[in-house]
Amino acid sequence: MQFLSIPGQAKEKKQLVTQVNQDRIPHAQILLGRPGSPKLALALAYACYILCQDRKDGDACGVCKSCLKSMQYKHPDLHFAFPVISKEGKKREDTTSQDFLDQWRPAVSENPYLDIHAWSQYIGAEKTQPNINTRECNEMIKQLGMRSFESPYKLLLIWLPEYLGKEGNRLLKMIEEPTDNTFIILIAENQERILNTIISRCQITKVSPVSDIQATEYIKARHPNIDSEILAQAVQMSDGDLNKALNIALGSSVDYSDLLLSWMRLSYKRDFSELNDWITMLNTKGREDIKHFMEYAMSFMREYAFYLQTEDVSRLSDSQQLIAKNMTKIMDMIKVESVAKLFQECLSEIMRNVNPRICLMAKSIELGDILRSKDQVKSLYDM
Ligand SMILES: [Zn+2]
Repeated sequence: MQFLSIPGQAKEKKQLVTQVNQDRIPHAQILLGRPGSPKLALALAYACYILCQDRKDGDACGVCKSCLKSMQYKHPDLHFAFPVISKEGKKREDTTSQDFLDQWRPAVSENPYLDIHAWSQYIGAEKTQPNINTRECNEMIKQLGMRSFESPYKLLLIWLPEYLGKEGNRLLKMIEEPTDNTFIILIAENQERILNTIISRCQITKVSPVSDIQATEYIKARHPNIDSEILAQAVQMSDGDLNKALNIALGSSVDYSDLLLSWMRLSYKRDFSELNDWITMLNTKGREDIKHFMEYAMSFMREYAFYLQTEDVSRLSDSQQLIAKNMTKIMDMIKVESVAKLFQECLSEIMRNVNPRICLMAKSIELGDILRSKDQVKSLYDM
């Protein structure tokens, strides 16, 4: 990540660059900004800048050996700690960020404005609250206690220290007296939820939210086909939260409900030739679109679950209401959970670059099994 790919934030960028240029990098610093503000993006660009071997015009060069590694978040002297849940097959107390680096790297590359909700979805943590545990704290201390590998510097980025419990007190000594050329950067959004003992030992740099113009330009550059009017409204509604703007804009620009209904119907029918045609059609849309479809499917399941429990249709569009009412014949809360989990797995696999055709076919079969399970289900044909 380079500073130039972050819209706006001139003041913050200048402050961070000056620290490095004048050799006055604080040993412990908190980048503090509201959700959807570019604090994580700035921290990543700042880390790249510190580690770059050929800094140019106030930015990392982007091409030196060091930049190539740090821009893939694989630099051996750049450590990360962030909230996680237990990894499959491991106890929570044995799991750390290390176990989730393969998900962290693509998540951050795709969306450096990542918030805890998007991250929770990414790692399948809708039901469990991610956190930063004791073992993670011990790992951080260990990592920073070692010699650096390639750079004169060692960097530790702690994303969302709000999710550190009292365990955070273990870090105090490390924050207060880090070894030479060791810098700890905390990326936070809610000062009140961070241990006071930590705050008092850090320099705080406030990060302002993005302006409407910056948000619009950023989203347009990544999604050039987006409808301008929808984008303008999404930005206006999101109040400087770039993540929210992106979700609103993408979520409202395409209605995937027909696509979702046809997927469920074909999976239920288990007609492999028709399923194959459907997958081919979806596959031609490209990975990004498949991703958005899966995100839509997940958000639809959440809304559907809400509807099942409350019979309140106000959060559903007209076409969604129709589907939801039909779906009650075949999908109860237990199935909703299994289906939502399946969509989540499908999304994670697509993001991990699993072949979409294979992934979609496997998931379609599973989806069919879930929908058909139990005896008393009415046919989906009459939906
Ligand atoms: Zn460089």
